[in-house]
Formats: sequence, C-alpha cells, structure tokens
Amino acid sequence: MAVDETVRYTNQAGVALGEIVMAVEPNLGGGFSIDNILLDSNPLTYDLDGQRLTASLPQALAPGAQIALTMRFRLSIPAKTKGHPYGYDVDQVNLTDWYPFVVPYSNGWILHDPASLGEHLVYDASDFEVNIKTTQTGIVIAASGVADSQPNGDWTRYRLAGARTFAFSASDQFLVYDATAGAAQIHSYYYPGYETQGAAILNAAVRAVGIFEAKFGTYPYGSLSIVQADLNDGQEYDGLVFLATKFYNEYDGSARSNLVAIGVHEMAHQWWFGLVGNDQAMEPWLDEAMAVYSEEIFYRFIYPNSHDWWWNFRVNYFGPSGYVDTNIYEAPSFRAYVNAVYLNGANFLEALNYRMGDDAFFQFLQDYTSRYGRGRATAYDFFAVARQNTTADISDLIASYFRGNY
Ligand SMILES: [Zn+2]
Repeated sequence: MAVDETVRYTNQAGVALGEIVMAVEPNLGGGFSIDNILLDSNPLTYDLDGQRLTASLPQALAPGAQIALTMRFRLSIPAKTKGHPYGYDVDQVNLTDWYPFVVPYSNGWILHDPASLGEHLVYDASDFEVNIKTTQTGIVIAASGVADSQPNGDWTRYRLAGARTFAFSASDQFLVYDATAGAAQIHSYYYPGYETQGAAILNAAVRAVGIFEAKFGTYPYGSLSIVQADLNDGQEYDGLVFLATKFYNEYDGSARSNLVAIGVHEMAHQWWFGLVGNDQAMEPWLDEAMAVYSEEIFYRFIYPNSHDWWWNFRVNYFGPSGYVDTNIYEAPSFRAYVNAVYLNGANFLEALNYRMGDDAFFQFLQDYTSRYGRGRATAYDFFAVARQNTTADISDLIASYFRGNY
C-alpha cells in the first residue's frame, strides 16, 4: 500500500517542542518504509527506531502554533494472525494503526512499549480525512468513517471527527446489512453463509447504541462498522469493531452468546476508549472495566431475563480477583490480567453503581463523557467526577479494589 499523509498538528503541550514523536506500529513488524517527511516542502531529519519516529524541527514549535507535516510511505502488509487484526488473510485485508500518528504529550511524549498482552497505545483525538483507491474493482471497504456519497474521482473519501484512530477492512467477499441508531449509520459486514449472525449483531448494535446513548451520552461518530474476521476475539477501533468468526460459528440464535456479549463490549468501547480516551497501557481498567460493565448495563435493560446468565458466564465463572488498577506490564498471565482489570473491574463498578444508586451513577457517567469526551481521563478524573455526583462515601470501595489511593 502506498500512502501520502498530511498531519496538521497544534502544539497543546504548553511548552515549545523541538521535535515531534510519532507512533509507527507497522514498523514493529518491519513492513514500513518511508520516503521522506516534509515541512513546507523541506525534508526533515528524522529517526525511526522500532515504533518510534522522531522528526526534528528546524525551529521549535511554540505553544499554540500549528505545523503541517507531509509524509510518503509504503506498507508491506503482513499475513495476519488470529491474535491481531492487522494484515491480510485469504479473504480480508485489515489496516489498523497503519500510519504514523503524533502521540500525546504530557510532561513528555507518551509512547509506551508493547507488552505481551493488552494494548499499549495512547491517542489524542484527531479529525481524519482518508481517501482510498484500490487497484482492483469489486472491493468492499468497511471503515471507521463515513464515506462521501459522491466519489472523489477514482477515490472514496471518508471522514471521521474527534477520533483516536482510523481503521478499515477490505474484502471482495463482504456482504453488508445496514441500519440506523439515533444519528449513526450501522453496518454489519459478514461473509456468505453468515446471514443470520450478520443480522443478529446488527440488531444488537442498534439496541446497544440506543441504551448507551441514553445512559452515557450521544454516540460519538457518524457510523459504526461491525466486521467479521478470523480472530481469537473482538477488537475495538473508533467507529469500527472486529468480531471473531468463531463467535459467528457458535451463535445459536440467543442473546446468551459471545457474539452478542463481546459484540456489545466492543461497541461500548466507542464511549470508553473512543469518546473518553485513557492510557491503555498504564490504566487499562478505564476502558476495559467500563466496557465489561457496559455489557452488564446492556443485559440489565435489554435482556433482563439474561442478566443473571451474563454475570455467571462473563464474570463469576472466573472467580475474578486482583487490583483493578493493574497495568499491562505487571500481570503474570492473560487470565490474571483479565480477571483483575476487566472482571474485578466490573465487580467494582457494580458495587459503585449500588452505592451511588442508579440515578447518581448514570448522571456521573453522563458528566464524565461530557467533561472528558475527545480528551483523556485518568483514574483521578474518574473518581473526582464520581464524587461530585454522590454524597455517599466511596473510599472503602476504592480501597478494597484498587492499589492506588484515589
Ligand atoms: Zn475491551
């Protein structure tokens, strides 16, 4: 894939910046080659080391000032594994975190090392315009953004505002079901033979967006693409989620299924990860525990007869324990990580919901998304907004689930 990229960056760091640091995930696998980085048509000196691309500026960028960097690069797209969407397989090409992006700056550039589990990237919110042209016809593209109704010459233009990342998936096999939920277009991309499942997850998405808009705030993007893929699990991006074909294979027509439960989990990440950003490496509970507990909210309100099933199937069965504020580098195993961050996190949020009561708890979530939407929140931010919405003392709950003193 050949790419021309322009990055318009405003220095909101509060200090002058002599260099710009970008994350380049395709270079972790060695499939990335860059021709140049230009500033006002002049080549910049840069250093590319693993995922870290550092471009030196000829003069420091003052606080509040803006620059436009242009880059030309090529990707040698790798064969994908079941462990991650990026790459190609027999019927699909998935482009995730496929371009250099400027990482957040907060007392230094925030670019964590990858770990053996969890996600390590941290993102500022950005506005995207992506123009895609394929060398073959008959390719269906599932994307994070909304396509212009009119083609842009041979190109299709997609737009996505206030998002962390722009992902897409291309296939000559995709079939698609469409619906709307609130102001959002919902697209379910599935493979031939999976019509029942493709329709079921579309239906779940309409219900999920409806209840989450009521409880959390307006869906943050113009569209949501649900993409069937040969993976071990689900994976969230802004406006686009991947779901494992094995969930489609297992589906028996009931909401008591991984297809619906994990599908709804990835959709909830549109609010927790997409709208309210966080440091996924150091405070993964802020998006993962919230996404799990959002499943609980979905079943509580949409399928109340399956609410107990959900708790047993997704949480209690695993007997979760461990500090909710475990980071991705500390957990001894994937199971221990999920038990602490995701599942004990859901137990904590259930206790918090019970302590605060539904009215205060959901008002807290509304306040949290309106305060930190398009920004990034920390655990301190989370608990500050929670305490502003309740007169109850929550310190004992925090002390019993968290290592940090929030
Ligand atoms: Zn998740």
